[in-house]
Amino acid sequence: MDKKEEFRKDVRAWLGDNCPPSLCDKGVEFSAGLSLKHRNGDSKIWLERMAAKGWTAPTWPTQYGGGGLSFAENAILLKELRRINAPIPLAGMGLVMIGPTLLELGTEEQKQCHLPKITSGEVSWCQGYSEPNAGSDLANLQTKAEDKGDHFLINGSKIWTSGAMHADWMFCLVRTDFNVQKQKGISFVLFPMTDPGVTRKPIKLISGDSLFCQVFFDDVKAKKEDLVGKLNQGWTVGKRLLEFERSSIGSGSIGIGSSVGVNLVDIAQRYRGDDEGKIEDPLLRNQVVQHEMNSRSFNASTQRLMAELKTGKTPGFATSVMKYYSSEMTQKKSEMMVSILGQNGLGREGDEFNTQELAITKRWLFDKAFTIAGGSSEVQLNIIAKRILDLPV
Ligand SMILES: Cc1cc2nc3c(=O)[nH]c(=O)nc-3n(C[C@H](O)[C@H](O)[C@H](O)COP(=O)(O)OP(=O)(O)OC[C@H]3O[C@@H](n4cnc5c(N)ncnc54)[C@H](O)[C@@H]3O)c2cc1C
Repeated sequence: MDKKEEFRKDVRAWLGDNCPPSLCDKGVEFSAGLSLKHRNGDSKIWLERMAAKGWTAPTWPTQYGGGGLSFAENAILLKELRRINAPIPLAGMGLVMIGPTLLELGTEEQKQCHLPKITSGEVSWCQGYSEPNAGSDLANLQTKAEDKGDHFLINGSKIWTSGAMHADWMFCLVRTDFNVQKQKGISFVLFPMTDPGVTRKPIKLISGDSLFCQVFFDDVKAKKEDLVGKLNQGWTVGKRLLEFERSSIGSGSIGIGSSVGVNLVDIAQRYRGDDEGKIEDPLLRNQVVQHEMNSRSFNASTQRLMAELKTGKTPGFATSVMKYYSSEMTQKKSEMMVSILGQNGLGREGDEFNTQELAITKRWLFDKAFTIAGGSSEVQLNIIAKRILDLPV
């Protein structure tokens, strides 16, 4: 047996012994992003076992709590998890944003301090970038950090901060120099959300959920050792993190479009199919097939890109292509699903709708956010035009 097959066999046996059967076949409905303290029962056991194995961050180095797996081994692990429909044990901004950024740009002390708490699920993170007057024009941010010797004193506000209600730590872009070109006066700091100067105010979404907050800072302290990169060079660190964010949105590792746990073809067959499941309306049939083809080619392109990245290259401007296309496609898919449901797709609550119909409608509303979150579609198109196609903008 070659090494790959041996690894597959070991993974399969380990998952068989360790993945609680109650969690399988549940799609990704359970909150993979929530940290350990919000877990109970089998979801807690699953996270603890996977973390002890290093498989919450399979490709990270073992000394920081990762699994030290190669790209090929990680692909086998993911395939085996999918085979038994096991949920990923942990997701979130620690794993896909600040973790990879610290691995690349953090000091050894920062890596040792923060990464193991990410992989164990002990600490969850939120992203303090956007402000009321700094979204697409992020470099306009005004949250101020003053140098107080061994720490920075932070005052200002961030908005649309996903997961801030439960987050333990924030990675944050702050202004440390107001007298230079705006990109050159920004620093990248980390601080605990338990600081007494942090106030979180939830914002309600059109879907009815409240996934993000406006966060206010009144004399919040960030230790000097939690400055990532050099003082006033946070723009470079912040942009790098955005590339990690876009590649995870684009590759679906943040969970885009999948949490309803339904398949477009199934829905079309069930609601618009004849007795044999043939979709009767030729126009709809064409739209569904077109979407499936686009989706499969996009997945193939994403896998190719991710494979290239894992061979040493790191995500760059191509992440904007992934982010743009996947978020536009996700919206189209949920629009199509709601229109297939017809009247059954018009409910937010009520007994006349089944659970799946309500979930699809909610998802359609939630998906509106995807062409804005992580940088709007227009901004991605600007990046693609300027940085990839070299067009004058
Ligand atoms: C669900 C969700 C989660 C989010 N989570 C976070 C988070 O955790 N942390 C965080 O910091 N932020 C978060 N954001 C904020 C997000 O990054 C910003 O909303 C986004 O960058 C757009 O900024 P804005 O809302 O200020 O819109 P604006 O920048 O005011 O843009 C308004 C409109 O103008 C367009 N526009 C702006 N500039 C240009 C241009 N140069 N060319 C063409 N069109 C342009 C935009 O595309 C958009 O359509 C989240 C947003 C959403 C929706």
